[in-house]
Order: sequence, then C-alpha cells, then structure tokens
Amino acid sequence: MNDKENDSLPVSALQHFIFCPRQCTLIHIEQEWSENVLTARGRLEHDRADSGYREFRRGKRQISGLYIQSEKLKIHGRIDVLELEEINPKGQSNLPSFHLKGTWRVYPVEFKHGQPKENDCDRVQLCAQVLCIEEMLGVEIKQASLFYRRIRRREDVLINQELKDLTRNAIKNLHALFQNRTTPPPINDKRCRACSLKDICMPKRMSVKSVKYRQSLFQPQEPL
Ligand code: SF4
Repeated sequence: MNDKENDSLPVSALQHFIFCPRQCTLIHIEQEWSENVLTARGRLEHDRADSGYREFRRGKRQISGLYIQSEKLKIHGRIDVLELEEINPKGQSNLPSFHLKGTWRVYPVEFKHGQPKENDCDRVQLCAQVLCIEEMLGVEIKQASLFYRRIRRREDVLINQELKDLTRNAIKNLHALFQNRTTPPPINDKRCRACSLKDICMPKRMSVKSVKYRQSLFQPQEPL
C-alpha cells in the first residue's frame, strides 16, 4: 500500500462518524466489530449489491459494486448501484470511460436495511459517494437516492451545495479524528439501543464523567 492509499479513508467510516464518533473510532481504529440482528441483515442484503452484477435494458444500465474514490478528499468505497439513463442518444458522449455513446444521466443508489433516519448520516454517505463519482467521471450529479428495504421505498436526495458543504466538513473532521486517534466518550442516548457495539462500548459505565476520571489518572498531579 502506498502513502496515498494509506491516507484514504473508507466512505463507510463517514456514515459511522455522523451516527456516533465513538462507534467510528471503535470500528475503524480499534478494529472492534460485533454483529447484531440489524447488522447481519444489512450485510446479507448488501451481498447482491456488492456482487458486481450488470443489467442492461433499453436506454438504461445498472452497475453494482463499483469501486469509487476521491483523490482530492482522500476517501474511497463502493457504490451499491450506479444507474445510467440515456437522455440524448445523439448528444455529446459524457461517459467515454464506460464506452457509451450519447449523453447519460448518472444516478447513484445506496441500499439501506432500515428506514429513513432523523440524522444526516445516510445522506452524507450518499453525497460522499457522489463527490467521488463526480471527480472520477467528470460529471455533475444533481440527484441520487437511498433505497430503504424495510419500507421498500426509494428516497430521492437532492445533491445541493448545502449537502456538499456539510459532507466536505464531515470528511475533514473524519480525517482529524483518524489523525488524533483518541476514542471519544460515549454519546449514551437513544442511538445506543440499536448499536451492535454497546457491549464493547459500555455507554453507561463509560459516561463522560467516568472517562474524565480515568483520563485524570494519567495526568500529571501536584506533588504530595
Ligand atoms: S453504544 Fe452508543 S456511544 Fe457506544 S458506540 Fe454505540 S452509539 Fe456510540
């Protein structure tokens, strides 16, 4: 692995970071992982998306499991499904790397097991994928979508400047977290209920108060 690849962070870490910075550190820095029913279902459901299938229908292409990266933002990952829709067969070719003639609309789709969340973690993860694809293919993507399996519904996500700024800031903070290598204290709120790492994390016992106490044990004290 060269230095460039070493610096690059997985897009999945960004989703964990927005959900809970401590979860992100435990999984991606401390290499802890524990599966619960929700993560097992999510993993099985991603198998088809990761299998690299390609579907060609008239005027439409679907490619799954495509590797994506951004050299500018130093992130990488895989997109569940990239949909390409022909919008002008006689137009200028905008996807020469796919050997396609004409102009195509590029539309990323990310599959999620559950249902839409109150926080921005899924939208930010999707936007990070969009930023990678825009950089790789030299196209502009105005809309993408999240498909929630539990409710079997596709939620369209507008890729506007506000979401892009939010995502770029989150990526910067994620890189800072990885450089810092300090595990943040637990959030200890309702997010912990469904978290597969709660037995490892111990959000109640490791509350901010007890983390501060533990940290104080390693700080220089006044001589007796
Ligand atoms: S149990 Fe709570 S604090 Fe701990 S990693 Fe999971 S979400 Fe974060």
